[in-house]
Amino acid sequence: MQTSFTLAQLADPDVAESEKILRACVHCGFCTATCPTYVLDGNELDSPRGRIYLIKDMLENDRPATADVALHIDRCLSCLACMTTCPSGVHYMHLVDHARVHIEQTYNRPLGERVLRAFLAKLLPYPNRFRLALKAAQAGKPFAPLAEAIGLKRLATMLRLAPWRRLQPPRGPDTIPAMGERKGRVALLAGCVNDVLAPQINAATIGVLTRHGIEVVLAGGAGCCGSLVHHMGREAEALAQARGNIDAWSAIRGLDAILITASGCGTTVKDYGFMLRNDKAYAEPAARVANLAKDIAEYLAGLPLKADHSAPGLVVAYHSACSLQHGQRITRQPKELLAKLGFVVKDVPEGHLCCGSAGTYNILQPDIARRLRERKVGTIERLRPDVIAAGNIGCITQIAAGTALPAVHTVELVDWATGGPCPPTLREHRPALAMRLSTAAG
Ligand code: SF4
Ligand code: SF4
Repeated sequence: MQTSFTLAQLADPDVAESEKILRACVHCGFCTATCPTYVLDGNELDSPRGRIYLIKDMLENDRPATADVALHIDRCLSCLACMTTCPSGVHYMHLVDHARVHIEQTYNRPLGERVLRAFLAKLLPYPNRFRLALKAAQAGKPFAPLAEAIGLKRLATMLRLAPWRRLQPPRGPDTIPAMGERKGRVALLAGCVNDVLAPQINAATIGVLTRHGIEVVLAGGAGCCGSLVHHMGREAEALAQARGNIDAWSAIRGLDAILITASGCGTTVKDYGFMLRNDKAYAEPAARVANLAKDIAEYLAGLPLKADHSAPGLVVAYHSACSLQHGQRITRQPKELLAKLGFVVKDVPEGHLCCGSAGTYNILQPDIARRLRERKVGTIERLRPDVIAAGNIGCITQIAAGTALPAVHTVELVDWATGGPCPPTLREHRPALAMRLSTAAG
């Protein structure tokens, strides 16, 4: 694609990077076929190619974002299916990240929108605040239909997404020693939303790692990865959160890896080197942290896991989170891990399409998110699985809100099959099944 940025514009490294990306696009339109928003409504402006044109026009003309541009970019899930499909290697993620920052800085959103975004940005990345808000949401859960009926769709969505589970306080800094001979040392990103919504995921991760000789460090000072605010274009906050994590992990010696159990966060941590490339003090440590970052399935695939028992006949529908399959290109490892441990793994048809979770997307764009969830749940339920597994808390929460099937993190099943406890969600949903398998194990 031809561009016409001026030399003065190209002096800005972010504009120069976007110009490089724009030039790579040959507007062939292959990406439209796998874009969830285009698949739903067939609107060119809600396709990757359409969005690329909108961004080009906005940046090239150095224009403030219009309501129309904000509408179509806001509808983008940042699922990155378009990057997997694109034959020209267009780095859509960096382009849309830049566009979101430009929109945040130049577009004056309606008041309600601004308040909601500020509320989410000041709440979700902070586990103690998030936990309090979840308690309130649990109390208000029965009023979700009423909120929907009077037009408060976003509030209704937030209430429906709140789990009934008893909420644990977030974990503090800790070092959990390996059992037996120490064979490795890793830091684990406890996460913000992850550890409050589903502490069993990090518990399973610690369990399986330490049983296999890996020491786990929860670094003091590490917190939200920054992706929640990054995807809202709040660049300064995102970079501050990234720097906080880099400082925390750089203070720990002898790390083999930094492990992340929420693949949405993993995609962002692996991008720290790019995000901080122009920061003289942080460029180098950011690149080091990004190189150490690994998704939990990616790391476990390299360990000689010892199966404690197999899971005979337990059918797992594996939902491949967009951030894992498109963002990190990790597709094989989670399924191979589960199959090796005795689960019957089924791929979900249309697996390239997002479930509608996408960070705060399901709150900010409840209608599109609901339609995507219904489509995803339909394809999953037709497989008639015993359990759904995914590598991202956002997908687990989103899918679980639309089905009676239990949804768990892949690592919970891996932990269980290698000697850990049965995942609590499975015990609650299918007590007879969990008991049958536990008896088989014993
Ligand atoms: S597939 Fe790639 S090159 Fe083709 S229009 Fe989409 S982004 Fe551009
Ligand atoms: S990131 Fe996903 S929703 Fe956004 S343009 Fe690409 S395929 Fe479409």
